[in-house]
Amino acid sequence: MSSLRVILGDQLSQSLTSLQEIDKTHDTVMLCEVMEEATYVPHHPKKIAFLFSAMRHFADMLHHDGVCVRYIKLDDPQNTGSFTGEVMRAIHAVQPQRIVVHEAGEYRVNEMMKEWQRCFAIPVDILPDNRFLATHEEFAAWIKDKKQFRMEFFYREMRKKYGILIEPDGSPTGGEWNYDKENRKPPKSGMTVPKRIRHAQSSITREVLTLVHARFSHHFGTLEPFHYAVTRAQALMEFEHFIQNLLPHFGDYQDAMVAREPYLYHSLISSYLNAGLLLPLELCQKVEDAYRTGAAPLNAVEGFIRQILGWREYIRGMYWQFMPEYGTRNYLNATRPLPDFYWGAQTHMFCIAETVRHTREHAYSHHIQRLMVTGNFALLAGLDVTEVQAWYLAVYSDAYEWVEMPNTLGMALYGDGGAVASKPYAASGKYIHRMSNYCEKCRYDPEQMTGEKACPFNALYWDFMVRHESIFRGNQRMPYVFSTWDKFAPEKQRAIRAQAQMSLQKMQEGVL
Ligand SMILES: Cc1cc2nc3c(=O)[nH]c(=O)nc-3n(C[C@H](O)[C@H](O)[C@H](O)COP(=O)(O)OP(=O)(O)OC[C@H]3O[C@@H](n4cnc5c(N)ncnc54)[C@H](O)[C@@H]3O)c2cc1C
Ligand code: SF4
Repeated sequence: MSSLRVILGDQLSQSLTSLQEIDKTHDTVMLCEVMEEATYVPHHPKKIAFLFSAMRHFADMLHHDGVCVRYIKLDDPQNTGSFTGEVMRAIHAVQPQRIVVHEAGEYRVNEMMKEWQRCFAIPVDILPDNRFLATHEEFAAWIKDKKQFRMEFFYREMRKKYGILIEPDGSPTGGEWNYDKENRKPPKSGMTVPKRIRHAQSSITREVLTLVHARFSHHFGTLEPFHYAVTRAQALMEFEHFIQNLLPHFGDYQDAMVAREPYLYHSLISSYLNAGLLLPLELCQKVEDAYRTGAAPLNAVEGFIRQILGWREYIRGMYWQFMPEYGTRNYLNATRPLPDFYWGAQTHMFCIAETVRHTREHAYSHHIQRLMVTGNFALLAGLDVTEVQAWYLAVYSDAYEWVEMPNTLGMALYGDGGAVASKPYAASGKYIHRMSNYCEKCRYDPEQMTGEKACPFNALYWDFMVRHESIFRGNQRMPYVFSTWDKFAPEKQRAIRAQAQMSLQKMQEGVL
């Protein structure tokens, strides 16, 4: 039976079941660049360029491997602009007897593919995405009957399932499951970080850059310089560079933030991993090997593996477990419009300006910038959860709804009512001051609570807690918050809340 095998832009992996079982004599693989997907949020130009270039390289590789490939470029005059339109055109052109796809990373696209089963007169097989390490069924079985869905316990199950950092007697390597207490150090002054790999642009990439420049330069973000990996070989090279040069310090400085150092010791592999160029298990195994051969310490290795085997799989599990209802949640009723400084307008808050600058230039900022700077501000200021999510989805080259939504709505904004995070990741300016060198460069003072120079995060932190007192006062994981607030004199409490209102007013006026 001849099949049209549709590969989505974030499924660029030869290990997909669909490609493993291909019949090269009769089947056709289709990839298409469609305007609908490139614009449903205004994606960062680097993200679009990365995906189109990686798709074209992947298609080329399949073609050289003897596969019949139908590749539709964005500027193909016949391009209908939508997946459904392109599948319809392909059915007429190729006359397949069935369509084979892998489930999409977004609920919306999955629903669209289910519709194909109704629209087209041939069978449509939607296969599970075999690149992930926990199936939907496994996650559903793990979550069943649990009142709290804590990542740590899921992670331990995954370690056992894959035998990663597990000793022959079944105990965790080193005796502990988690070495976080050794991680998360503040940055050292004057610390320098090894240089990153900058991949040369191929002729395919150059053609894509011209296209993206012509069609998407009005989107937020700078397109060039562009040095992303766009093939699996390049992505693997970048990962090896990370293991050899950066992994040993990954754990130590995982939460640190340094001005003009967007990457520090992070791996920068999320875009490659999410698009399928790299696979999660191979990364965990390579990193475990680095520990076993003495190339990296256990705190760094365990910390890294927990991000992939734990957080990444858990986040995906939560998304599919609770969609589509999850996407409608707004537990703290946050509705304030997203201020323009998220899109690069001026702000005197150095931490925000620096994170947005990294984002605009690289389509990247690291986890703590996303969580404790832009995410923390959005949480404290009560910014609209839908607008904040659309921002995160648009501006990062690794962003797809399955991973962006639980991280933003759940982890950063507490908008899912504590399903992902057992307490809100809310922090005053003191946290940012401790973990970065941002405050030295800022107009505001992290030590001041009120007055012209007071760091806006400080009063907004207390205002947030008091606004949501009925929810958080009883939270066992925040025992000191309200006991501290209660000790403040009434005048101090009033001054703090007035300061918070003033900051919100300034934010609205564009002068914060
Ligand atoms: C508000 C917010 C939004 C986010 N949106 C995305 C997103 O759209 N796409 C995305 O891939 N990650 C997202 N993350 C998670 C995390 O910030 C990024 O995966 C990470 O910054 C990518 O950089 P890196 O590859 O250098 O990661 P490293 O710090 O080197 O970590 C290694 C890998 O672990 C995985 N990982 C780490 N933390 C998480 C997490 N919380 N959830 C899922 N995977 C994780 C990633 O694959 C990452 O590449 C978000 C986090 C927050 C707080
Ligand atoms: S003082 Fe406040 S606003 Fe300024 S960088 Fe520090 S935390 Fe950010």
